[in-house]
Amino acid sequence: MPHLINKNPDHLTRDSHGIRREDIPRNALTVTDGLVRKGYQAYLVGGCVRDLVAGLEPKDFDVATDARPEEIRKVFRSCRLIGRRFRLAHVHFGRDYIEVATFRGSGTGNEKQRRTENGRILADNVYGSLDEDAHRRDFTVNALYFDPQCEEVLDFVGGFDDLTQQRIRLIGDPEARFREDPVRLLRAVRFAAKLSLDIDPATESPMAGLAGLLRDVPSARLFDEMLKLLMGGHGLASYRLARKYGFFDVLFPDTVRVMANNDGYHAMLEAAMANTDDRIRTGKPVTPAFLFATLLWPAYCEALQLQGNGDKPNFVIRQNAADQVIASQVRRISVPRRFSSPMREIWQMQPRFAVQRGKKAKRLMSHPRFRAAYDFLLLRVREDPNLEPLAQWWTEIQELSPSAVNRRLFGQRRRSRRGRGGNGRGDGGGHADET
Ligand code: ATP
Ligand code: MG
Repeated sequence: MPHLINKNPDHLTRDSHGIRREDIPRNALTVTDGLVRKGYQAYLVGGCVRDLVAGLEPKDFDVATDARPEEIRKVFRSCRLIGRRFRLAHVHFGRDYIEVATFRGSGTGNEKQRRTENGRILADNVYGSLDEDAHRRDFTVNALYFDPQCEEVLDFVGGFDDLTQQRIRLIGDPEARFREDPVRLLRAVRFAAKLSLDIDPATESPMAGLAGLLRDVPSARLFDEMLKLLMGGHGLASYRLARKYGFFDVLFPDTVRVMANNDGYHAMLEAAMANTDDRIRTGKPVTPAFLFATLLWPAYCEALQLQGNGDKPNFVIRQNAADQVIASQVRRISVPRRFSSPMREIWQMQPRFAVQRGKKAKRLMSHPRFRAAYDFLLLRVREDPNLEPLAQWWTEIQELSPSAVNRRLFGQRRRSRRGRGGNGRGDGGGHADET
C-alpha cells in the first residue's frame, strides 16, 4: 500500500479520550511496564483501545512493542512464542495471557510482501516501526495506541475522529486494502454492526463489487470469521449488512438461491439471528451447530426435495441430503465435524416431532439434543406457520410433571387422538415418518 505514511501522530490526552491507567487490567500493565523498564516502547493497541474509547468492555488487551520476540522472551519468564513465520509472544499469568506483537511494517522496501494476482497478501512477516505498524492495520478505529505511562492515545490515521463520529474507514486505498485481505469485507460489517458505525462512503463503494474475493479465502478462516460475525452479540445487524453487500451469496450460495423464492426462510434466519443475540445478552449458551443448522436449512430442504421419494428409506434420503449440503458448503466455509454432527442430528430429529405419543415421543424427549431440536422446531414455525400447533404441543408437554407426561404419551388412545386432532397435523416438510 504505497500511500502516504503519516509519521507524526496526534497525541490525545486523557481529557479527550477518557481512558485511564486504572481501566487497564493489571496483567496488561505488567507487560507494558516490564517492556518500558527495559527501554522498549509498549502500547495497548487495536480492539481494546477502540472499545474503551467507545465505552464498551474490551474482550482482550493486546500489546504492540518494538522489542523482537526473542527480546520479549528475555523480559518475561512466563513467555511463550507462537506462530512460525510471524512470531507473537504470549505472556502467561496463570490461565490468562497477554498477546504481545512486534511492530510490523508493510514491506515496501526490498522485503516486499508476497501477493496473489488479486493482490491478496500471502505473507505478512516484516517488522517495522510504530508508524508503519499503524498503517498496516485495517480500519482507522483499530489503529489507536494507548500509552499507559502517560495516558495518551497516539493516532496516526484519524481513527479517534472516525470513532467519535461513528464512522468506519479503511486505512489507505479501500479497494487495494480489501484485495490484500478480503476478510476485511466481513470485518467492516462486523465492526459496523458491533459499534453502530456507518461505513465511510469511499470504503463502502467497492464492497459489493469485491464480494467474489471471499471465494479465495481459506475455508477454515471463513468459519472462524463467521462465528465472530454471527455469534458476537450483534448477529442480526451483521447478517443484514452481509446480505446487503452480497457476501452471503458467495458464502452460502445454495441457501441464498433457495431463499430468493421463499420469504419464510428469510423470516426464519432473521429470527435465528435475533435469538442468538438475545441468548448472548442473557448469558445463555450458543452453539455453531445450531447456527449452521439454520443457515443451511433452506439448502437442506431443497436437497431433500430433489432426492425425491423414490424407493429409499426416509432416513437414507435425509442422510444423503445432509451429505450433499455439507459437501457443497465446506468448499466455501469449513464446518468442523464436531459441529456438523450435531447439526445433522438437529435436522434428523425434526420429523420425529410429528410423533406425539408412545415410546418414540418419550425417547425423543430424553435425547441429549432434544432441547436444540425443539428450539429449531420453534424457528421453523417462522417458515411454516402450519407447524405452530405442533410446536405449541411440544412446548406444553415440557411444562408437565413426569406423571402427566406419561399420561399424555401413553394414556387412552381415544383421549390422545382427541388431543392430537385439536393440535393439527403440522408435519412440516412432508418428511414426517418415524425413522
Ligand atoms: P475484537 O474485539 O473482535 O477482537 P479486534 O480489533 O481486537 O476486535 P482482532 O482480530 O483481535 O480484532 O485483531 C486485533 C487488531 O489487529 C485489529 O484491531 C487490527 O488493528 C489488526 N488486524 C486484525 N486483523 C487484521 C486484518 N485482516 N488486516 C489488518 N489489520 C488487522
Ligand atoms: Mg481482539
